Amino acid sequence: MGCLFCNIVAKKIPAEIVLENEHVLAFKDVNPQAPSHALVIPKQHLTAIAEATREHAALLGETMLAAREVAEKLGLTESGYRLVVNNGADGGQSVFHLHVHVLGGRQLGWPPG
Ligand code: AMP
Repeated sequence: MGCLFCNIVAKKIPAEIVLENEHVLAFKDVNPQAPSHALVIPKQHLTAIAEATREHAALLGETMLAAREVAEKLGLTESGYRLVVNNGADGGQSVFHLHVHVLGGRQLGWPPG
């Protein structure tokens, strides 16, 4: 079966794609936690931010810039939004392919639960 998000990149599992380029894919979260909730992933498999090294610097930059672009596409730039990267058990990570959550469309609370 392999990695769920790698299967989305390979278009073997459908997703509502918001943005795609050579380096990254962004799609709507199936279980949205805000009126707008998308995930931005590097196409190259990287398990978690904890596994990132300097070799991934450009890829991480592309992922963050894509998150900014996704927020703009979703109409969140003016109202504001949050980017979240969960890592490991305490961080609440459930899919082990690095992803940046883009959340917006309502006032988000702080600190997160
Ligand atoms: P995390 O808990 O940070 O690892 O986030 C994983 C996210 O992936 C959750 O918000 C899930 O709702 C989302 N998710 C799981 N499966 C899919 C899928 N097939 N398509 C889109 N989003 C998904």
